[in-house]
Amino acid sequence: MRIVLSAGKLASCVKEVVMSGRKLFIVSLVIGLLIVGCSQPGQSVEPVPTYETFGDPYKRIDIAADLYLREVQNGAYVITQDTEFAANSLLVEMADSTLVLVDTPYTIDATRELHGWIIEQYGDRKLIEINTGFHDDNLAGNSYLISRGVTVFGADLTADLLKEHNSPNAPPTNLYPIDEGLELTFGSEIVRVYYPGPTHTLDNVVVYFPDRHLLFGGCMVSGWGGIGSTDDADLDAWPVSLKSLEQFDADLAIPGHGDNFNPENIAETIEALENLE
Ligand SMILES: [Zn+2]
Repeated sequence: MRIVLSAGKLASCVKEVVMSGRKLFIVSLVIGLLIVGCSQPGQSVEPVPTYETFGDPYKRIDIAADLYLREVQNGAYVITQDTEFAANSLLVEMADSTLVLVDTPYTIDATRELHGWIIEQYGDRKLIEINTGFHDDNLAGNSYLISRGVTVFGADLTADLLKEHNSPNAPPTNLYPIDEGLELTFGSEIVRVYYPGPTHTLDNVVVYFPDRHLLFGGCMVSGWGGIGSTDDADLDAWPVSLKSLEQFDADLAIPGHGDNFNPENIAETIEALENLE
């Protein structure tokens, strides 16, 4: 007896086999995962963190009501003071164990809290700071850090602008000519401070950690889609200056404000500037 399957019957038969094959696959996958998950008891299956990005959302550490850190790489933390216009700073542990802080929070109190956490976390480590501009969200905590023996690097123009604006904030302790930028070496690792030209202020600089492919863009880079205050900005030069940041091979670009750390935030800031009324 010949069994003749119609095309329709054959198709549904094939479908059945594929379906049950898929079910079988899923069941064996689940069993496989259970076996993998249950094997090697007591051993962590988490990979050792590297300089790769950790992925978003990052591990968050609250250190005060309005102050928290996010660990964005192994030994690299974005510090956020969560005020009306939340602002970011960056703390990086270098190859020789020196800690580099890029910008302080908005206030002395928040800077004290942050410094306390650093001491608690790392003990009596060498800590240096780099200012990326003369606004409060860059350096209002300078005086506290300087009182704790921290060396603060900043551009000559930053010190000039503080004076010009009669700022109550302490200027950096170690000045460099802004057009020359700055390179600091910590064992096998360097940090580059680069001035791309006028942007959100005349003196904003960026800080690049080449071994980590980590760029602190600061207030010239927006991580929230908007532009914010343009009181001290050079709106014509800003997008041109931003284009020169393409030279950095960054995996992460930390903005002065906002949660978008993807380096595409640089192009997005240029676009937002071009669309400004
Ligand atoms: Zn800012």
